[in-house]
Amino acid sequence: MSQKALIVGAGLAGTCMAHQLLDQGVEIELIDTGINHSSAIAVGLVNPMVFRRMNQSWRLDEFLPEAKAFYLQIEQRLACSFFHPIVIRRFFSSEQERRLWLEKSQLLDYANYLEKITPQDEQNTDAINTYGSGRVKNAFWINALEWVAQNSAYFKAKEQLILGEFDTQKWHPQTRKYDGKSYDFVVFCMGYHQKEEPTFAYLPLQQTKGQTLLIESLQINNQESLNRKCFVLPYGNGRFRVGATYEWNNSTLNSTPEAKMQLEQNLAALGTYHYHILEQNAGVRPTVLDRRPLLGEHPKWRGVYILNGLGTKGYMMAPTLARELAEHILNNKPLHPDTAISRFTD
Ligand SMILES: Cc1cc2nc3c(=O)[nH]c(=O)nc-3n(C[C@H](O)[C@H](O)[C@H](O)COP(=O)(O)OP(=O)(O)OC[C@H]3O[C@@H](n4cnc5c(N)ncnc54)[C@H](O)[C@@H]3O)c2cc1C
Repeated sequence: MSQKALIVGAGLAGTCMAHQLLDQGVEIELIDTGINHSSAIAVGLVNPMVFRRMNQSWRLDEFLPEAKAFYLQIEQRLACSFFHPIVIRRFFSSEQERRLWLEKSQLLDYANYLEKITPQDEQNTDAINTYGSGRVKNAFWINALEWVAQNSAYFKAKEQLILGEFDTQKWHPQTRKYDGKSYDFVVFCMGYHQKEEPTFAYLPLQQTKGQTLLIESLQINNQESLNRKCFVLPYGNGRFRVGATYEWNNSTLNSTPEAKMQLEQNLAALGTYHYHILEQNAGVRPTVLDRRPLLGEHPKWRGVYILNGLGTKGYMMAPTLARELAEHILNNKPLHPDTAISRFTD
């Protein structure tokens, strides 16, 4: 007989968990408020690089190919489209950064991600960008709003999604019973709201607000995602997402004039463009001080798990992390030590 799981939260973490468990023959039920302020607000950009240190993103060679294959598979399953390949053009901030890129782009490890700088890139300078630019390949973006909406509709149609608030009064972690029903296991995927639910409240999850602009412009390059101080992602029909702010320990959801000003200043550092603002959006990322996700079983209650702390690179990491947690639950496969929540109790 197949195992039965309850997944609390149907954002990116919960939906990836649901698909990975379904692939392993587990019966699932999701519960979600139907209101999402993170996965649906995200820009959904998957950038192989961390430009601050000009390094590859953590576990890139594992996460990136699996994420790409996963999203393409789920597009088939849901009969819709949200996966978009994109080239990222990084404008260098200094001669030192340009030299670092040149060095790294000679290394075999970076061959899949950094293009060699071409004479055209060298000439791609203006009064603002005097150090030239380089191109990152194998990046993509997921239409995040579409991901959340299409998954909700899919699981709702299959009667696997309960819309409503998870009620802690109806939850018995000792017996894994919720609202009178028993589950073989329960996975908490509540994003930044996890702090407010007692089961895993002991974990050092942080709430990091982020704001973005949606702008319209006829002057910005719509073939590449531009990057320096901020990113600009072509969103179709002459629209662009500009992001994002980092506001630590802040879970408010209002758009602020300060963030708008900061984003416009950052955009001005990239180029002089005519544009007008269509929207300003605010959301909250679930982050962890050591910048590593939170996976594993509750130290006290058997069969009670968490997948959280997806931080700023959720769209790249979530498919692999959900599979790894599913394999841990079902086959006792050890978790990657950097992701295991036992790092906070052992
Ligand atoms: C402005 C911004 C830009 C971003 N840009 C990117 C980007 O470009 N690339 C990238 O990879 N990542 C990006 N991120 C980060 C990414 O969005 C997060 O890592 C990821 O979405 C977190 O997913 P989650 O499922 O853990 O949380 P959430 O999306 O918050 O999902 C949690 C779900 O749990 C539900 N829930 C919570 N409490 C309850 C309850 N009591 N009862 C029932 N349901 C409940 C909520 O309704 C919600 O749907 C961005 C985030 C922000 C805010």
